[in-house]
Amino acid sequence: MELFDKIQTISRWRRGDQRAPHKPLMLLYALSQYKQGHERLFQFENEVDQQVKDLLVQYGPSRKAYHPEYPFWRLANEKDSFWELKNGEECIPRKSNTDPKKSELIKYNVMAGFDATSYQSLISNPELIEKIASKLIQDNFPNTLQEELFVRFDFEVDTSTKQRDPNFRKNVLRAYNYRCAVCGFDLALDTVPVGIEAAHIKWKQYSGPCEVSNGIALCSIHHKALDRGAITLDYGLKVKVSPAVTGGELVNRLIRDFDNKAIRLPRDSYLQPAESMIEWHVKEVFQSR
Ligand SMILES: [Zn+2]
Repeated sequence: MELFDKIQTISRWRRGDQRAPHKPLMLLYALSQYKQGHERLFQFENEVDQQVKDLLVQYGPSRKAYHPEYPFWRLANEKDSFWELKNGEECIPRKSNTDPKKSELIKYNVMAGFDATSYQSLISNPELIEKIASKLIQDNFPNTLQEELFVRFDFEVDTSTKQRDPNFRKNVLRAYNYRCAVCGFDLALDTVPVGIEAAHIKWKQYSGPCEVSNGIALCSIHHKALDRGAITLDYGLKVKVSPAVTGGELVNRLIRDFDNKAIRLPRDSYLQPAESMIEWHVKEVFQSR
């Protein structure tokens, strides 16, 4: 199997509806480092522990604890794996699963990275790095975050495979009367809306349907805030603001002041956000910490 196909399998792997960003983020981190000339293997303690944890905190779902050691170790367990561990033999597995504890990885200076063959094909073919990175980003994150991730990792933005559903956008904006459901922003130029977008509540990447009941019309700011988990909705269709939000007076006015305020809803109840979609967003995207 080609490296790209193997990665594609991992990239699309899902445990039901739960977000699984560990392996994609670990791989994106490794690829971005290779691009900067990093050697094949990464040391867990100094090069992965904090760096991949930061990525999980920022781009993964809100969890009680974060485990950068999972993808570092488990990528090597994949069928037809392209990921290799060094110094892993001595580590004692935990009782609950076959992984060692983080402290073991540190104690034995465990290193990991792509295997020699895959590493060779990556560094001799920089386009392959870009192609794999694009795939990982597009399979796992919504449009609003994709660009941010391309910039953060310094990959070239690939827009060739962007999928859009023009009917979704049209139907959502119409249902919400071309206004942001949170703040009411409704700028138009000659009646053409500007900066008002149709957001998916449950991400398309996790089979969120392109239906109005999984959509909400939002201005660009509130769209980004929703996709990043800075805001969500509760079952009463009121805005909930993440305790992780910081910022000055303008952030108070644009974000915090809407906490616990009802959103503007489509008149027909079947067009309003469905509870199951909200539930997914609260669990998998909202930064509740
Ligand atoms: Zn808004």
